[in-house]
Amino acid sequence: MEFKDKVVLITGGASGIGAATTQKFSAAGAKVIIADIEQEKAITMISELGSNVSFVHTDVSSYSNVVASIKETVQAYGQLDIIVCNAGVGNKTLNKTAEHSLEEWDRVLSINQSGVFYCMKAALSQMMLQGHGNIVNVASVAGLKASGNNIAYSASKFAVVGMTKSAALEYASKNIRINCVCPGYTRTPLLQDVFDVKPDYEGKLVKFIPMKRYGKAEEIAEAILWLASEKSAYINGQHLVIDGGISI
Ligand code: NAD
Repeated sequence: MEFKDKVVLITGGASGIGAATTQKFSAAGAKVIIADIEQEKAITMISELGSNVSFVHTDVSSYSNVVASIKETVQAYGQLDIIVCNAGVGNKTLNKTAEHSLEEWDRVLSINQSGVFYCMKAALSQMMLQGHGNIVNVASVAGLKASGNNIAYSASKFAVVGMTKSAALEYASKNIRINCVCPGYTRTPLLQDVFDVKPDYEGKLVKFIPMKRYGKAEEIAEAILWLASEKSAYINGQHLVIDGGISI
């Protein structure tokens, strides 16, 4: 896929699925901006990938931070063609709803749900000015189906799927497409955090995946690039499930 000189901002672009997406867009000729809280990881990536990748410190749970990062991007590159709203966190503790802490609820929702809303809101303002744009959000199969001991994450990912469809409807006639991906279990530091809390999960969970293996970050990134490309030109407001079959 060809993205020569397209300006692509990727939230959470310094790790896992975001890092794989950064690498693929960069290899396809895009100017990539990693918008993350992880400066050190981003700088290491930039030293490997070269000068078409840059970093802007962004906490997606802060609307003013998001607005400033998009403003900086447009000042540097003149436009924002594509935004991948990927930054996200898992629940630190895996408790049932009655035991779920209020702090954990607020933390997960502020990043996974409000963060995507803030990024879409700020990006859409710019995309309306320039007359085109493409947004790919990263939801989860946890945004389509029940998942136990995971209420905040589940709520946030159902919200991402819903926000994707609602915003896509609003901007469909404005040359702006909005879709999301719903990964299943994918090997990244986020999934490793879950295994660190529940070490027996790693061996147990894989048995439920029909393909009998975890997903790779590159496999999710490939789908993100396809949704951001002209190859998917008539696809809008959709959720694309990439999960080795676990949701079927
Ligand atoms: P990861 O932990 O490897 O990467 C997440 C990135 O988001 C990190 O670089 C982190 O620094 C960044 N981030 C966290 N909080 C942030 C904030 N407030 N502002 C800006 N950046 C922030 O995890 P990953 O698995 O690559 O997750 C990427 C996305 O994929 C998330 O939205 C996650 O919910 C989703 N997802 C992951 C899986 C999986 O199994 N790994 C499955 C479904 C969905």
